Amino acid sequence: MSETIEKVKCLIIGSGPAGYTAAIYAARANMNPVLYQGTQPGGQLTTTNEVENFPGYPDGVTGPEMMIQLQKQAQRFDTDVRDGWVTKVDFSGDMHKVWVNDTKEIHCETVIISTGASAKYLGLESEQKYLKLGGGVSACAVCDGFFYRGQEVVIVGAGDSACEEAHYLSKLCTKVTMLVRRDKFRASKIMAARVTNTENIEILFNTETDEVLGDGQVVTGVRVFNNQTNEKHEIPATGFFVAIGHKPNTDIFADYINRDETGYIKYEKDNYVWEAVAE
Ligand code: NDP
Repeated sequence: MSETIEKVKCLIIGSGPAGYTAAIYAARANMNPVLYQGTQPGGQLTTTNEVENFPGYPDGVTGPEMMIQLQKQAQRFDTDVRDGWVTKVDFSGDMHKVWVNDTKEIHCETVIISTGASAKYLGLESEQKYLKLGGGVSACAVCDGFFYRGQEVVIVGAGDSACEEAHYLSKLCTKVTMLVRRDKFRASKIMAARVTNTENIEILFNTETDEVLGDGQVVTGVRVFNNQTNEKHEIPATGFFVAIGHKPNTDIFADYINRDETGYIKYEKDNYVWEAVAE
């Protein structure tokens, strides 16, 4: 055994609300938790604008502010918060093995997985091309919306995220076109009403993306099609925002933990994690 191996009672992977909540409880239970933050300290909420629906904040709170408070609360009870990305695990033995940044090996009595999820994309070649070029494709309006102020943008999705992001963009951009693949929203009524009642948001139902158009460097528009009539048309835009949900970050656990078809860890008695926690 290498002498660089560290032993930890309770290791928490991920620094979103779930990770910090686990840390607060584990620390107060004298489990001396060590929390690895991952590549996006604070998690997805750090890319959220206003959080309006969390109890206890009558005037709302920004995502980043809320995450700083959660981190402080966890550290107040001596949670060891560290930079680092867990790249590999081995849960086959009694001691759970975890590798950070492919190098540091940690042996843990307990591992709490709170790795959250990553934004999904449509997967179109043109979308991926301009995403990689940094030329106008984004899955985070709050992060990137500022670059499109005074311009026209398109956003795909019909859930609460899409509505929230479309509304945010509408304050910066001259026009926001929302592409909704069905004839209705998935979003809550209040969020759907908010975009419907915003003057510079145009909602195209039964409409999907055919191709993200560009000049080879940056996005210049989006070709869409009506999935009822197959009619196509082009929408001029400099930004293409994707808000179609998220994929759970659970791939590194696949060999040891049962997951459902979308990648979420199953909550079941036979699951390794469930039994370990239940003991
Ligand atoms: P959702 O899974 O709720 O919605 C995803 C949306 O993307 C759906 O409308 C779906 O369409 C659409 N979609 C999926 N794939 C495609 C595709 N290939 N092409 C076109 N459209 C596609 O994800 P969200 O991220 O919006 O929300 C996740 C959770 O977070 C929800 O529970 C939501 O309520 C919550 N949330 C709450 C907020 C708030 O209260 N302020 C803010 C943001 C999120 P279809 O409907 O046809 O399946």
